[in-house]
This record gives sequence, structure tokens and C-alpha cells, in this order.
Amino acid sequence: MKPIEEIKPLLEAPKKVVITMHQKPDADAMGSSLALYHYLIQKGHLVTVISPTNFPDFLKWMPGAEGVIDFESSTDKALEALKGIELLFCLDFNALYRTKNLAPHLEAATCTKILIDHHLEPQPDFEYGVSDTSASSTAQLVYETIYKLGDEKLINLDIAQCIYAGTVTDTGSFRFASTTARVHRMVADLMDRGLRHEVIHQEIYDNFLENRLRFLGHSLLNRMEVFYEYNTAMLAIPYSDLKRFDLQTGDTEGLVNFLLSIQGIKMAALIIDRNSEVKLSFRSKGNFDVNTFARRYFDGGGHFNASGGRSTDSLERTVNRFIKAVEENETLLQ
Ligand code: 5GP
Ligand code: MN
Repeated sequence: MKPIEEIKPLLEAPKKVVITMHQKPDADAMGSSLALYHYLIQKGHLVTVISPTNFPDFLKWMPGAEGVIDFESSTDKALEALKGIELLFCLDFNALYRTKNLAPHLEAATCTKILIDHHLEPQPDFEYGVSDTSASSTAQLVYETIYKLGDEKLINLDIAQCIYAGTVTDTGSFRFASTTARVHRMVADLMDRGLRHEVIHQEIYDNFLENRLRFLGHSLLNRMEVFYEYNTAMLAIPYSDLKRFDLQTGDTEGLVNFLLSIQGIKMAALIIDRNSEVKLSFRSKGNFDVNTFARRYFDGGGHFNASGGRSTDSLERTVNRFIKAVEENETLLQ
């Protein structure tokens, strides 16, 4: 993969561009994509942002979110946007399967493919890009890319808000180890450009419906299991809970982190029956590698301390497989 700054000549004349991200995008996927969008339109390109699926309501405030095409609900529109594109940017994922039903169309596109991402072990599908696992967020990499291309004067308030949103969420509000001095300097620069961080925190974190909080209480009370012998905590959510509390996309985001707040717990797992498949989220503290764990047992991946996977087994069987996997990792979890 050639370095991202080598795309500079490709951006000189207007091009038809698509930006896409992983399915069920979070604030980093959406924020980095929209930041790049606001940059590229200033450069005169014709840019469309496509999400493989819908996205949470708490991201709808983002400048440009109203123009994002949901591939699942607006497939024809998305395919039209993909027709004849010259550049494809893939943000916040590094394996095409993470775009679900959009994946075959991305694979088939004959344009120049560019990766901007911070996950481990990228697939070799990209001609240009940056894959930096030390970056706090893909949003940070978009910010740094704009600098590398010598266009920092184009970082306007729209871009600043999108970049901040991706960074604040992926760093757990600036507490994970990935929150380097470089990240704080970036945020200071964004504030110099007019960013008001408290407004964004409110949009993202204080924008839920009552039922989401009730679901949270119910889950922690009734669905949590703690395996102290393995320093592991687990939440297993049946599909009936998702229905009962009328949960929407994004309502389970962040739930897994509560488990890590228990003293001594090194790994946390959230296992949700989504009906079509069982989705798993893993988090760890310290030196337990949940990227490897997710890859080995649950067809997934991600980062060292945050990863995800999936299973086509029932919830019960998936939970049993998880417990067995934890037992196998007993020594690493001490
Ligand atoms: P989350 O638990 O928040 O869904 O995801 C945690 C991290 O793991 C994110 O960086 C996400 O991109 C990654 N991730 C989640 N699910 C999968 C998966 O099925 N495959 C891979 N490769 N990464 C995943
Ligand atoms: Mn990310």
C-alpha cells in the first residue's frame, strides 16, 4: 500500500468519489467519513458517502449526515452513486466483509481504492492508504491526512466537529492509552478553529430515550455474569430483550464498558442475539489481547483492547463457546 500522501496528484482535478465505512457505523466511522467528505467537496470533487446499513440517531446531528445513503434501505441510489467512481475511500474498517451486502460491489469496483483505518491486520485490497494502529481513531487519521496533503487551512468547523466526535468516542472520552499528546494537540487545534466540545458531548451522550436507560438497568441486574476465577464479566442479551425495550441501532453501544469497571476484571464480553446472527463485543484492560481472541474464536477482530466478532450459533451455544474459550485462556487472564 502506497502512503496516503501520494494521493495528492489524484485530488488535483475533480473526480467522482465514494466514501464508505463499516456496517452499523459508530461515531468514528461516521465522523471520519463526513470529515473527509467536507474536505473533498472543498477540493471540488463529487462525493457521496454510503453507509452499508442505517446508523444511530445520536449521529444525525453531524453536518452532512442527512446526505449519507443507507445501502440497505436505498440500494438503487447507492449503486447509482457507485457507478463510474474514480476513487473509493474505505474508512474505519480494513476487511471488506465488514460492509456486509455492500462488500461485493466494493470488490467489483475497478477504481483506485484508498484505506484510512486504525484496526489490526488490514486486508491487501488497497492501493493507497494509512493503516495506523497507534492512532486513537480514524478521525484523527483524517485530520493528519489533511495536514499531510498541505490543506490544513481547509479544516473548517464542520470537519472539526466530525473529527472531534470520532475521537472522543473511540478514546472513551480521552481515557484510553491511545490518547496521546498528539491527540490533545489536535483537539486544541480544533478548538482554535471554533469547536465547542460540550455541545458534541450532549448530542452523543445525552440524547437517548428512557427505554435505553431502563434496558441498561435490566441488563446489569439480570443479564450479567461475573467469572472471578477468570477475571471476566459477561452480558448475554436475548433477542426478546431487544424487542421488549424497543431498542434501536446504537442503543447497546458502550454497554460492554460498564463491566470493565468491576474491580479486577480484565476482560468483558457483550453477547447479543440479533436474530440474524449473534454479535459479540470484547473489551480488555492491560495485556489481554482481545483482537486475537475475537479472531481465533468468533470470526472477528479489531484492536488489542477492543474487538468484536459474530456467531451463527444460538445465543446459548455461543455463550457456552465463549465460556470454553475463556477457560482455554485462563493463564493469559490472570
Ligand atoms: P464494537 O464492540 O464496538 O462493535 O467493536 C469494537 C471494535 O472491534 C471496533 O473497532 C470494531 O470495528 C471492531 N469489530 C467489531 N466487530 C468486528 C468484526 O466482526 N470483525 C472485525 N474484524 N472487527 C470487528
Ligand atoms: Mn474507529
